[in-house]
Amino acid sequence: MGGSCDAIIVGNTPEEMALNGGKHLVEMCDKDAGHKQDKAVMDASQNDPEHLKTWMTDFTAKFDALPEA
Ligand SMILES: [Zn+2]
Repeated sequence: MGGSCDAIIVGNTPEEMALNGGKHLVEMCDKDAGHKQDKAVMDASQNDPEHLKTWMTDFTAKFDALPEA
């Protein structure tokens, strides 16, 4: 998911992968300051439809570029 995270986030679709990444951030944010920051960015972008749209387009492009996709 980038940032402080080197966990492998998986999903069959970009939406599922984003959802799993979000769940991971929620699980880890109490234990790790880096994840807390990542979650804050995610939370902020969810209140900003334009940013979310840009992020999702970028994320979908990265997902499509994965060898196993
Ligand atoms: Zn992580």
